[in-house]
Amino acid sequence: MLIEHLNHRLREVESQVLCRERRTAESPCAPRQQVTVAGMGQGAATRSMLAFCSNDYLGLANHPALIEAIAEGARRFGVGSGASHLISGHSRAHALLEDELARWMSRSIPQARVLTFCTGYMANLALLTALGDGNATIIADRLNHASLVDGALLARARLQRYPHGRLDLLKSHLSRCDTPIKLIVSDAVFSMDGDLADLPALLALADAHDAWLVIDDAHGFGVLGERGGGSLSHFGLRSERLIYMGTLGKAAGLGGAFVAAHPTVIDWLVQSARSYIYTTAAPPAIAHALCASLRLIEGEEGEARRARLRQLIGMLRDRLTTLIQRFSHLGWRLTDSATAIQSLIVGDNAAALALASSLDAQDLWVPAIRPPTVPTGTARLRITLSAAHTSQDVQILADALSRAAAGGRQ
Ligand SMILES: *Cc1c(COP(=O)(O)O)cnc(C)c1O
Repeated sequence: MLIEHLNHRLREVESQVLCRERRTAESPCAPRQQVTVAGMGQGAATRSMLAFCSNDYLGLANHPALIEAIAEGARRFGVGSGASHLISGHSRAHALLEDELARWMSRSIPQARVLTFCTGYMANLALLTALGDGNATIIADRLNHASLVDGALLARARLQRYPHGRLDLLKSHLSRCDTPIKLIVSDAVFSMDGDLADLPALLALADAHDAWLVIDDAHGFGVLGERGGGSLSHFGLRSERLIYMGTLGKAAGLGGAFVAAHPTVIDWLVQSARSYIYTTAAPPAIAHALCASLRLIEGEEGEARRARLRQLIGMLRDRLTTLIQRFSHLGWRLTDSATAIQSLIVGDNAAALALASSLDAQDLWVPAIRPPTVPTGTARLRITLSAAHTSQDVQILADALSRAAAGGRQ
């Protein structure tokens, strides 16, 4: 019965052309990748593709110094932690990483302390379930990442959601809110549009209403702000009311996540956050390599990589803007984003898919994103850039899009 039921559901997904399939990378994460795609009835084929889909914004996922650091970490600490943090899995490598991140984050959060997690998804579940008890209200932007949504749904707190960026509505939720604890929860960089939340205004509202501001900076940490310090540093914000979640599998190139906050918040997470307590600590070699990654991010090489990324973002926006004007009848538009996430909104689901497959035919890998991940009528290509791309790569993409747009006109 279960199998029949699931087969039925799977056929439904297929019939809505929403079926997701995986491709298998045969080479490290990089703009040029060997990729195996399950063929349509003709077996699997391996191709070399130019990819614009990773979150490896600084191109560190395959950096020789980090490969060396993870190997060294494995020699020093072994390959597994062996247990959860509260039993015996918390190693010196984890402790050093926490200290290092706390030093970074103390620029934005006075006396910041840090707790590391295996993934950002787990960090967000931890935060919202541990802080969002029956005394709390969570007030969240509707376009927040799925992990924040799931955390809020699992929490015992009351949940209010406001339409994307509508701080006037957030404000009225705050003024009506009568629980003693109020948590404003937002992505810093929204993952589908690449736009930045108005963090100064959010913090001002938190101050005015005695609320706390929980920020998910998955796409900002390492990329934005002074020395890659993230979105809080980008806006020059500093406050005890900030609770910050950064991920380490995107710009930092490895994997994992951390929460930085007031020491008491961190103490409470250690005592109560189930997705911290009931899971095996990440391999210490990863923590060891992350310390090396932080040094790269903060140093001259990080500065150079961020400068290169900014230059590529400028170039891509410039090319896309020209293209949109030239083919204005297609009704494409670009989201208002200064980050490495650049979305070309096509509108119609089938048109977005056709565009992605036209690029695919030219060996370019750019994902089409459709509802329900994004609002109806805003199906798009979600292009992500990395410092590892070259300007020639960006030009190849622009030319391919231009050919696709010209083809679409006939
Ligand atoms: C990727 C992402 C996460 C999840 O982080 P993982 O470490 O990949 O689990 C959380 N929030 C946002 C906004 C993200 O983009």
